[in-house]
Amino acid sequence: MRNRINRMKTYRMQEQASSAKLIFIGLRLVSVKVLNRYRKTQKLRVIRKDSVPQDAAGKGKRMLTGKVALVTGAGRGIGREIAKTLARDGAFVVVNYNGSKERAEEVVSEIGAKHAVAVRCDVSDFAACGEMVNGIVKEYGHLDILVNNAGITRDGLIMKMSEEDFDAVVATNLKGAFHTIRHASRTFLKQRAGRIINISSVSGVMGNAGQANYSASKAGIIGLTKSVARELASRGITCNAVAPGFIETEMTDVMTDAAKEAVMSQIPLQRTGKTTDIAELVAFLASDRASYITGQVISVDGGMHM
Ligand code: NAD
Repeated sequence: MRNRINRMKTYRMQEQASSAKLIFIGLRLVSVKVLNRYRKTQKLRVIRKDSVPQDAAGKGKRMLTGKVALVTGAGRGIGREIAKTLARDGAFVVVNYNGSKERAEEVVSEIGAKHAVAVRCDVSDFAACGEMVNGIVKEYGHLDILVNNAGITRDGLIMKMSEEDFDAVVATNLKGAFHTIRHASRTFLKQRAGRIINISSVSGVMGNAGQANYSASKAGIIGLTKSVARELASRGITCNAVAPGFIETEMTDVMTDAAKEAVMSQIPLQRTGKTTDIAELVAFLASDRASYITGQVISVDGGMHM
């Protein structure tokens, strides 16, 4: 009887041992499978990290995501390209216009109505600029990027230039930038952040016969840029100027062939500039990647000024 009980005990122990062995083998197989799968995903992750362009924060998002930008005179030409480029990089864009509502609406629909809005304002009007800037802050909660692009020409030799033509150009090109900066600076200071990019010109840097009013306004932009940069730098706000050369737009379309040829002969890179040449630089200056650049005048002119 005792022998029988002992045999049964040994049999049960053997049975338990073999099922424990089976469980152990099963667990090992599962863990090897899980480990292999983990290694595979890690490999994939490493590949993705290297191939997707990363933003400044290294998270793969676009470099202006979440920013609100105001671009003046954005219904056509350089301003239009800047608005589209800032939107491409993730910003919500206020497309300012003075003349044609249709063209501004066109830019908005090209960008997408969720990511842009057209706002009419004559930048030479101080109070209207205040309304525009305050309206943006009220509606969208913040303003992060201000691009002063609106500009006009009233060319003529100094001997014949009317006071009206001189004043009109200065009022839009120079005072217009002062107006928007003056109103936006309050918001930028509160936010302790902001990007101001002013569109100057090679004419403001070098001067140009027949453009005393325009050159004066664009040179004024450079002084304005440097002073504002110094004033606002301690609060993390940057202010830079971009000085385009000869860019193909409706503004330069009106030049005579002789005038175009004369300019072309001064361009070492031997081609006219494109609106994208300017817009890409503006997008960079508006981003966190340019946080250590302020008070600069950056020429985009094929080497006309060096
Ligand atoms: P553009 O004439 O095609 O565009 C200028 C825009 O400013 C227009 O949409 C116009 O409606 C707008 N505007 C004019 N007055 C305004 C006002 N009072 N309020 C609001 N908007 C107003 O010219 P562009 O070639 O695109 O020039 C854009 C900027 O670049 C200008 O400041 C210009 O002086 C500067 N720039 C141009 C060149 C060039 O070769 N095209 C060279 C150097 C600098």
